[in-house]
Amino acid sequence: MKTLVSTLAVIAVSLAALPAPASEPAKCEKIRVLVTVGGHGYEEAPFDAMWNAFPGVTWKKIEVPKQADLLKPGLEKQYDVIAMYDMCQGFSPKQEEDFAELLKKGIGVVSMHHNMGAHQKWNEFRKIIGAKFPTTDCVIDGVKYKPSTWDHDQDMKIAVVCKDHPITKGVCDFTIHDETYGGYWVSPKVKVLLKTDNPKNKPGQIAWTTHYGKSRVAYLMLGHDHQAWQNPNYAKLLVQAIHWAAGR
Ligand SMILES: [Zn+2]
Repeated sequence: MKTLVSTLAVIAVSLAALPAPASEPAKCEKIRVLVTVGGHGYEEAPFDAMWNAFPGVTWKKIEVPKQADLLKPGLEKQYDVIAMYDMCQGFSPKQEEDFAELLKKGIGVVSMHHNMGAHQKWNEFRKIIGAKFPTTDCVIDGVKYKPSTWDHDQDMKIAVVCKDHPITKGVCDFTIHDETYGGYWVSPKVKVLLKTDNPKNKPGQIAWTTHYGKSRVAYLMLGHDHQAWQNPNYAKLLVQAIHWAAGR
């Protein structure tokens, strides 16, 4: 018995020396967001100001191509969400594989605006974000697509088609001055949250959610410049998308 007590005491001391098990982040902790930019121009100062104003969010910006080597398993321990505002075209096959593996492990993803035109040659990317903005003639699921189009400074009426989703909570139909995209592909598997009837924006889906591996993915097409970012509906949708992608 004495031996058993001694043994248990040794185990207890050994366990006490181990680091405490990692716990889930508390609900009140800030969401850690890695924001990727580059490969396409943008208005840096108002973009940064928008992110600085988001409640409950701490963020770090990284520019193409420096983000590519970070997007691999292990990043989910440092960040809760990757917010992609880049139009990167240059992943190596190993970087593509690592990014897909990271998403299979699980990290929140919010894809924004021209990110839909990123990774033209990487077929898996359109499955990750649920869409593609072709920049050259291409075939998707047996259908031929011409290069997509864009028009700046358009007034777009946005309809909230899924009103009971955490991302659209408290948002009513609204108008925004922004860029339209035409002729893009959207996966039939996504859950559409917003649509527009603007004839230059076809086929009309504006925001949706999907999943890849264990990752929640949200896409928001709006957001070309400060005119969109300073629309309170845009900011509300984006911050709610971050919270949803992080699982909060
Ligand atoms: Zn744009």
